Amino acid sequence: DLVNPSVLTQPVYEPGRPIEDVARELGLDPAGIIKLASNENPLGTSPRALAAMQRALGQSNMYPDGGCIALRERLAQRHKVEAGQIVVGNGSNELIELLGHVFLRPGDEVVMGTPAFIVYKLVTLLFGATPVEVPLTNHVHDLAAMSAAITERTKLVFLPCPNNPTGTNNDGAEVKAWVATMPPHVVVVVDEAYAEYLEESPDWTGEWSAGRKLVILRTFSKIFGMAAQRVGYACAGTELAGLLQRVRQPFNVNAIGQAGALAAVDDEDWVTACQRANRAGFRQVEDGLKRLGVVYVPSVGNFLLANVRDGRAVFDRMQRAGVVVRPVGVYGLPEWVRITIGTAEQNDRMLAALEASL
Ligand code: PMP
Repeated sequence: DLVNPSVLTQPVYEPGRPIEDVARELGLDPAGIIKLASNENPLGTSPRALAAMQRALGQSNMYPDGGCIALRERLAQRHKVEAGQIVVGNGSNELIELLGHVFLRPGDEVVMGTPAFIVYKLVTLLFGATPVEVPLTNHVHDLAAMSAAITERTKLVFLPCPNNPTGTNNDGAEVKAWVATMPPHVVVVVDEAYAEYLEESPDWTGEWSAGRKLVILRTFSKIFGMAAQRVGYACAGTELAGLLQRVRQPFNVNAIGQAGALAAVDDEDWVTACQRANRAGFRQVEDGLKRLGVVYVPSVGNFLLANVRDGRAVFDRMQRAGVVVRPVGVYGLPEWVRITIGTAEQNDRMLAALEASL
């Protein structure tokens, strides 16, 4: 009776385990394990960001800038909006939860695709709201079906561009036109965690002047290689951004992460090099999967879904061979594993472990 029932019914979320943990369980040398389970950047971190983070360590006795002032100004320039429209979070995961704090009460509905990034559903359930899950069509979000699922109780609609775990994306122009059709009582959240891997993303400049309730989410966890530091941000209308600012913790983003993000944003060379390596990695992995006769979903992110018939069993066997991928049963895809594109050497090891595990 004491505990909020939404907590007791909350599914347990199992993100990719740390390499050390896997090594301990299986009695393996951590140095011999590769993790291609969490869509991290296999090339590491932007060197500019690393240097800035090392400098920031020296101020560890001071609280970080709770307002993330410098970073928000820089991000506002990047997206051609006002600094008041940017909210920085402890990863974009925190921003998804803050949206729940601001908008969700029991009985509310949240429209999302299935399978789509699992945190949308977890946050919806945590606030006692109801996830309205709209099946993807050919692994792509069905925008018309999502619109049809909106009722007067709908508060939030989530659209990841590209989606995780499928790695697929909707056409940018179609997404932009669809966002413009949202009824005024609905907040639409376009999650662009993997946007930097795309050729191009919609330009949202000016979309807020129409009073549109639109939130764009971005993260430093993926192409910028800063997953450990937990920095993500939302770009929204000024009023909505102000609501998110009210419910965040006073010092929600650590100083090392802020310094790293500020340096990483300008590192175009890093982004270009990572895009190029990711494309080459895709060619290698796709060729390998074709050779093995493994069906996969063509992806525009930095990961792909492969059909291995029994995802859990193949995951277990690959893990014992020191290659950690992600089983996706929790997404309703028991036959599949999600594999992050690694370095050339990691991709070779992954393909060899997969071949031996099928
Ligand atoms: N959105 C999507 C679609 C993701 O795949 C992820 C990371 N797995 C996130 C958001 C959250 O990223 P972070 O909290 O590290 O910013």
